[in-house]
Amino acid sequence: MKPREPRRDEHLATAPRLVGYWRDPDAPRTATLPDPRDLVDPKWSRSERRRLVRYLQRGRLLHDFQGFSWCRFRCGVSDRRMGHRDLTDGVYVWPEGLAHYVKAHAVRLPDDFLAHVRTQLEHEHAPGGLRARIGKLFGAKRGMPPGRVP
Ligand SMILES: [Zn+2]
Repeated sequence: MKPREPRRDEHLATAPRLVGYWRDPDAPRTATLPDPRDLVDPKWSRSERRRLVRYLQRGRLLHDFQGFSWCRFRCGVSDRRMGHRDLTDGVYVWPEGLAHYVKAHAVRLPDDFLAHVRTQLEHEHAPGGLRARIGKLFGAKRGMPPGRVP
């Protein structure tokens, strides 16, 4: 299954907040980041996870990196599927492999991010909501494709 190709943009309106960046034993500068294996929440609502996965997959492309990421659970998913790019919604920035952690391993993301996503999805179609903001950031004609909001 080929993931949808995200749109590219290099500009953010404000300093981005980062979510879903993990500790890498081989990179000392990541020592203060969380390990996703500590964040697994098997009781997390499946419907919220599904909505979140869709949201994460709809992010806009921000940066390319050299080399692919890898799943910290070593579950066998290919590094290619984990991606090598950063995505954004104009406020938060996350690695494109983050959806995999939520979907496959029930890795719970911080409450402030979950609250942000909930608000974005509730107000997606409102004036000044996510679609309008993204439209403004990225140009009206390149606004987000219609997403299904359950
Ligand atoms: Zn995995």
